[in-house]
Amino acid sequence: MSDHDFVSGSKPIAFERGEGSSLYTPDGTEYLDAGASYACTPLGHSHPAVVEAVQEQVGDLTFVDSSFPVQSREDAYAAFVASTPDGLESAWFCNSGTEANEAALKFARSATGESKIVAATRSFHGRTMGSLAATWKDAYKDPYEPLAGDVEFVPYGDDAELAAAVDDETAAVILEPIQGEGGINVPPVGYLEHARELTEEVGAALVLDEVQTGMGRTGEMWACQNAEVTPDVLTTAKGLGNGLPVGGIAVQDWIANGAASHNATFSGGPVVAAAVHATISTLFEAEWPAHAAEMGDSLTSELEAAVGDEVRDIRGEGLLVGLELKRGANRVARDLAMNHQVLALPAGRTVLRLLPPLVIDETETDEIVSALSTVLAPAAAADS
Ligand SMILES: *Cc1c(COP(=O)(O)O)cnc(C)c1O
Repeated sequence: MSDHDFVSGSKPIAFERGEGSSLYTPDGTEYLDAGASYACTPLGHSHPAVVEAVQEQVGDLTFVDSSFPVQSREDAYAAFVASTPDGLESAWFCNSGTEANEAALKFARSATGESKIVAATRSFHGRTMGSLAATWKDAYKDPYEPLAGDVEFVPYGDDAELAAAVDDETAAVILEPIQGEGGINVPPVGYLEHARELTEEVGAALVLDEVQTGMGRTGEMWACQNAEVTPDVLTTAKGLGNGLPVGGIAVQDWIANGAASHNATFSGGPVVAAAVHATISTLFEAEWPAHAAEMGDSLTSELEAAVGDEVRDIRGEGLLVGLELKRGANRVARDLAMNHQVLALPAGRTVLRLLPPLVIDETETDEIVSALSTVLAPAAAADS
């Protein structure tokens, strides 16, 4: 036990090394990281291209502030902007997902001159005061009130409720293309397009939070590309630097032109920038998003066949998969980890999340399916 346990919680497994989809304890026991450590390692753990880029950069120049051009930073910005849909031409790097969403909400307010933020039930946008205000769960918010004001929540996926909430006073509608923490909730077809139309009509910003859905996981680099919707603001983090702490926001010109003063000291530091450039380049060169789509399809259909009767629902897109269980997700995740060396993540009380690295192969998805079918077998249910 150490003194940071009071916020992080601690699990009884220590890791020393990672490679691909695997993590290893000091005694060499292998665990399959089917949560990619919260989607942070799309290329798998300690991917050589990222390791090399980071090692070289940290030795050459660890840090210089963002007012000076540095090649790795220029490369990272170019790669990030090129990866986003046409129309998102300006970008800014920060240090995390919550910080990307803070910037998105600030820029939406300054560019529109309005203040109202429309967010969705079951949303998760981060834990700093502004992003937290747009996050749904009261347990995260109540002890810290008052938060940033003027946030209205609408039921996620409901076109009519969204239409009723968006008006001339709306600065932004902020949505996850598929909700992550909230339980891998996939909106009805047409929902994001509808949000796009509504915001355009009133001159509000559509902010799509791709902190969890981005970086190739859903089969396209960005999940909004599956819906063919270009937001005014796209935010990301988690997998952007394959494990290094970095967030990013890409915006349309009218948002960039309307942005008031905003920055962060560590913005686009050379080392995280090297990681971003290596991660995005490798994802595209090796076509990992297409692989994610393929592996996601086979994982989902194998899960349907193996545990379809033991769960209420299996949903998601690509390698963003949620299983709505008939019992508590925490216990199932614990059983998978302790007895089968498979690491999965709960998303709410009854949803189990699988977000493996995009580089996962069929042997590894088979392992996940086989572990889950044992853990969810009716006989096992009686014990837990
Ligand atoms: C994790 C997450 C965040 C917050 O990111 P942090 O880097 O933890 O601040 C925001 N939005 C979504 C959709 C997330 O999954």
